[in-house]
Amino acid sequence: MTRRFKVVVLPGDGIGPEVTEAALLVLDAVTEVRPEVQLKLIKADAGLYAIEKYGTNLPQETVELLKESDCVFKGPITTLEDPKAPPSVAVQIRKMFNLYANVRPAKSYPGTRALKQMDMVIVRENTEGLYSGIEFSVGEDAGVALRVITRKACLKVAEFSFKLAMQRRKKLTFVHKANILRLTDNIFKKAVYDAGRHYPEVQIEEVHIDAMARNLVRKPDEYDVVVTENLFGDILSDEAAEVAGGLGLAPAANIGDNYAMFEPVHGTAPKMAGKRIANPTAAILSMKMMLEWLGFKEAAKLVEDAVVDALREGKVVTYDLGGNAKTDEWLKL
Ligand code: NAD
Repeated sequence: MTRRFKVVVLPGDGIGPEVTEAALLVLDAVTEVRPEVQLKLIKADAGLYAIEKYGTNLPQETVELLKESDCVFKGPITTLEDPKAPPSVAVQIRKMFNLYANVRPAKSYPGTRALKQMDMVIVRENTEGLYSGIEFSVGEDAGVALRVITRKACLKVAEFSFKLAMQRRKKLTFVHKANILRLTDNIFKKAVYDAGRHYPEVQIEEVHIDAMARNLVRKPDEYDVVVTENLFGDILSDEAAEVAGGLGLAPAANIGDNYAMFEPVHGTAPKMAGKRIANPTAAILSMKMMLEWLGFKEAAKLVEDAVVDALREGKVVTYDLGGNAKTDEWLKL
């Protein structure tokens, strides 16, 4: 008998509910033709809007639902910059389930405004680095943020990246700044080479973060799987997404040993909220990654094929791709 997976859906803030709704309608269409896709969807509250009702952005009720589920599909959520405000929902969930690998594919699709042809995946260490949230004041006018790097977390994400490279073009690029961050980035580097011993077929190369920022613009087609620490990966993946065609097309998965979270790379784009002009492709492709992770490979391929077809044929061209299609026009295809 096919297992019915429990999926919590957090529509989020800003354009989140609009792009999530589009992704869910695509999921409906997929389940009609692939009956093996058995999902129980549970909508729950999280985000800036939830603070008024619950006093926090990730209410305990939602945490309980997450704990009983197999994975979560999340729309973008606003994180306030005020140090007294609750921390990012995504960061809280990543820590709660030790979702150590943030997988961010950057693939140029036909019919988009891709600056270069590319098909790479950035794997960002997702639990520590400067996102550890350890900051403190030193007197009135100075502060320190800790960039925590542990061998344990580096080995986890390195191992994950090698496995991914084995399924792809067997090339792994480690991005670091070990000439300046000599202690911490050498811990990461050693973990990468130690994990690599189990994957002798994978070619390893190293690139400094500053050189990588340039190379991504000039020659992104040279890269396959890229592994790096948290902040470098966050910035590089936005850059890669832009070169590949724009944030509206960039999906992401946060993977742990027993749980995962799927979300578009983009944020809540407040200026676009409610206008139904946001591109839902990033959310739809995040849904595709979720289907793949749950083991529904054929259903996942159906979603990607439909997206490629719609983009190539110019069937749905949202404003970011040079057109004026509305978010829900995907659903009329
Ligand atoms: P953003 O990604 O929301 O927007 C940047 C620009 O990208 C937008 O102005 C828009 O031009 C474009 N864009 C983004 N998504 C698009 C889409 N689906 N279709 C078409 N164009 C799109 O980034 P920001 O302005 O830096 O952040 C806004 C808010 O989002 C902040 O409050 C931040 O905390 C939050 N944020 C949340 C997440 C998350 O939940 N994963 C990630 C990033 C930012």
